[in-house]
Amino acid sequence: MHPSVEKTLDDFRLRHTGCREEVLNAFLESGYALAHHDIEERLKDNFDRVTIYRTLKTFVDKGILHKVLDDEGGLKYGLCRETCGHQEHHHDHVHFKCEECGQTNCLENVLIPRVDLPDGYQRKETNLLIQGVCPQCQ
Ligand SMILES: [Zn+2]
Ligand SMILES: [Zn+2]
Ligand SMILES: [Zn+2]
Repeated sequence: MHPSVEKTLDDFRLRHTGCREEVLNAFLESGYALAHHDIEERLKDNFDRVTIYRTLKTFVDKGILHKVLDDEGGLKYGLCRETCGHQEHHHDHVHFKCEECGQTNCLENVLIPRVDLPDGYQRKETNLLIQGVCPQCQ
């Protein structure tokens, strides 16, 4: 188990459950964004889909994970940095998907350029996915 699992759950005042510990561990150990089936593959115990789904929702609500829109309408999740909290996510970074290995990474230091919307359009979130080849696959 990754050393930060227990501390992270404590910091976010979350009760320790087997599913929460294992899901968080999967993210801390992978280092890149994971889709639902990637997460399931990494869990040692068998949790049902609903339990995993609820765990992911809790983590997104708390500011531990954020949604990463993948190509072809898929959804992945990425770890948040310290700046996120309950109901609040503070990041507008670019996501990069490698066509070779299929990994999607948070490029934490690459910010999405400001986009001005016409009057009457209210922005809630912005997603930018760049597809190409990552440094490991070149
Ligand atoms: Zn976040
Ligand atoms: Zn790659
Ligand atoms: Zn991200």
